[in-house]
Amino acid sequence: MKVLVINCGSSSLKYQVLDMDGENLLAKGLVERIGMDGSVITHTKIGSDDKWKNEVPMPTHKEAIEQVLNAIVDPEHGVLHDMSELGAVGHRVVHGGERYANSVLIDEKVLTHLDELSELAPLHNPANILGIRACQKLMPNTPMVAVFDTAFHQTMPAESYIYALPYEYYEKYGVRRYGFHGTSHKYVADRASKIMNVSLDDMKIITCHLGNGASVSAIKRGKCIDTSMGFTPLEGLVMGTRCGDIDPSITTYISEKENLSAEQMNEIMNKKSGVLGISGISSDFRDIEAAAEEGNERAQLTLKVFAHKVRAYIGAFIAEMNGLDALVFTAGVGENDIAMRDIICNDLGNLGIKLDLVKNKIRGREAIISRDDSPVTIMLIPTNEELMIARDTVDIVEKNR
Ligand code: AMP
Repeated sequence: MKVLVINCGSSSLKYQVLDMDGENLLAKGLVERIGMDGSVITHTKIGSDDKWKNEVPMPTHKEAIEQVLNAIVDPEHGVLHDMSELGAVGHRVVHGGERYANSVLIDEKVLTHLDELSELAPLHNPANILGIRACQKLMPNTPMVAVFDTAFHQTMPAESYIYALPYEYYEKYGVRRYGFHGTSHKYVADRASKIMNVSLDDMKIITCHLGNGASVSAIKRGKCIDTSMGFTPLEGLVMGTRCGDIDPSITTYISEKENLSAEQMNEIMNKKSGVLGISGISSDFRDIEAAAEEGNERAQLTLKVFAHKVRAYIGAFIAEMNGLDALVFTAGVGENDIAMRDIICNDLGNLGIKLDLVKNKIRGREAIISRDDSPVTIMLIPTNEELMIARDTVDIVEKNR
């Protein structure tokens, strides 16, 4: 079955076409500036040097999806003869709340639920819904599946997800830890088990998804038992521009001092904090590392603060699982940042984590990077959320035939 995977944001959209018979990627692309001047689609046909850029007005997500479908069947740049070749569409949906612990075939009832869940993910779910609606208009007979970022974390026990606030806020408003990046954590945990040739049932794994957004998960016997992101993707690690864990009183203190509204404070914590906020340089680790090498002390401090937080979560999750078999690094920083993996793993020998500094000199491909005498196997595993979405999509469509 050929599957189109859609990851729809408010003004951009990423897509992939996969042939799931051999799990081969056929094409991928990106639409940017939806609803703005200068909307553009960049389409890449895999296995050729063909990178096609087409600037065309896309006032809404419907025109954006139209352009994606045109690109996929384009005689020169496309990978399908016509749309009927497409067996299903898999949509990444950020928030599935407590209702969706698994992916689901989309119908009107599901769309109503997603709409209700927009309250919990106002920046993400509305855009995901726009993408789904636009696809439904253009492909009314093609089955669509929603794959949720939160679903994998629904196995967490209550002690991991309940906040120490009055319990009524959980009951009335669903205020609890949900966790995000679930598709990525699940994918790399599955790969770790395959690479080590040990059943997930017999493994304790910590997965570190370190990208612009970053989270750590504790996975015991294949099930997530804790994760660092919370009610929203703001909690946990220090991120590109997000602050992660802070004393909650800081928000009222700064907003009073600076006369900021709740919305402005939220913007600061989401867009102006993290490694950008500490360094004052950039949200990109490459820029911060370059500055640190030139002797910039705030850049050096930024890297230390980031690593400190990852290490603290690793320690906490080892305690929660009473041990660790595999530590996995993934996403932009996790896959590429040799120096950061080194700082994170440095001097953790007492926890069984011994990085091999030579094997660690690798980027962007699957590898075991621990020393032979390391009780914990440390791994670099590039994430592949799209493949995971496509797998779930095929699975759900076949089950519902
Ligand atoms: P992601 O959100 O997973 O796409 O990760 C994006 C982030 O990965 C970028 O903002 C960079 O901070 C980081 N990154 C990508 N390549 C490198 C690299 N070679 N060295 C250090 N950091 C990198």
